[in-house]
Amino acid sequence: MQETIKIAVQKSGRLYEGSMKMLKECGIEVSNGNNQLRVQAANFPLEVFFLRDDDIPEYVQDAVADIGIVGENVLAESGKKTDTVEKLGFGKCRLSLAVPKNGNMQKISDLEGKKIATSYPSILSGFLSQHKISASVHVISGSVEIAPRIGLADAICDLVSSGSTLFTNELKEIETILQSEAVMISHPQLTPAKKQILNSLLFRIQAVKKAKNNKYVLLNAPNEKLDDIFRLLPGMKSPTVLPLAASGWSSVHSVISEEDFWNRIELLKAAGAEGILIIPIEKMIA
Ligand code: ATP
Ligand code: ZN
Repeated sequence: MQETIKIAVQKSGRLYEGSMKMLKECGIEVSNGNNQLRVQAANFPLEVFFLRDDDIPEYVQDAVADIGIVGENVLAESGKKTDTVEKLGFGKCRLSLAVPKNGNMQKISDLEGKKIATSYPSILSGFLSQHKISASVHVISGSVEIAPRIGLADAICDLVSSGSTLFTNELKEIETILQSEAVMISHPQLTPAKKQILNSLLFRIQAVKKAKNNKYVLLNAPNEKLDDIFRLLPGMKSPTVLPLAASGWSSVHSVISEEDFWNRIELLKAAGAEGILIIPIEKMIA
């Protein structure tokens, strides 16, 4: 029988869509039509377990699942021993300390002797002792943001992404404790066969991530401007240059990275590039 790798993903919630989308972009077909607990992928040796995110680190540590997709926040809070094998670029958020907007607390030392509500007692306690602040940690599992308003706590330690929840609850952030995104975790000792499947999955994930961070650029330029333009195009290796039907002109094709993208396009234009086309890349294998 062919070996299969078992992956744990969130059953529903903020990481579900991103996890399924990632598998799809890797060309792996998983149908979770009937809300099942486990599903075998149609065209890859992968079995998907749908679980609550909080349980994923433990399942992977105990080898019930071989690998899993979970937020770094949940992983850090769990204290479980797994290997983080890839950052996945979605589910980005931060774990922050926030206080009432109109109160007189401004900085972390103002939390001395105060009561802080959180669903992340382990990370918070670590942070407080590292900063030599003694405060009492009050654990609540949901709607942490309302704790100060109902008099349950003086401050909160909670996940923030846009900050709109803090805003609606008249809270302000005073410190970021942890930056988080979804990561792929793995049991530290996989069999060689499972390791091989994981590597081929990671190879696909990296190709998808790389493609997202790069764009294919086509542009036209007069031949005498080409040297200046080449200097602005680091590309994968060197750009492809094709002659245009109009004499003295060339078409240049290259790959440029998403960061610094607009800046580079402006420089290309200023250097004499015309008819610039930007095309998304679906997969990119270096
Ligand atoms: P479960 O039912 O699986 O226990 P949950 O309610 O604990 O789900 P979600 O709210 O779905 O969890 O969040 C899952 C993960 O999504 C978080 O642990 C975090 O890594 C990530 N995330 C990204 N942005 C946010 C945000 N603004 N608030 C909360 N979590 C976020
Ligand atoms: Zn959860």
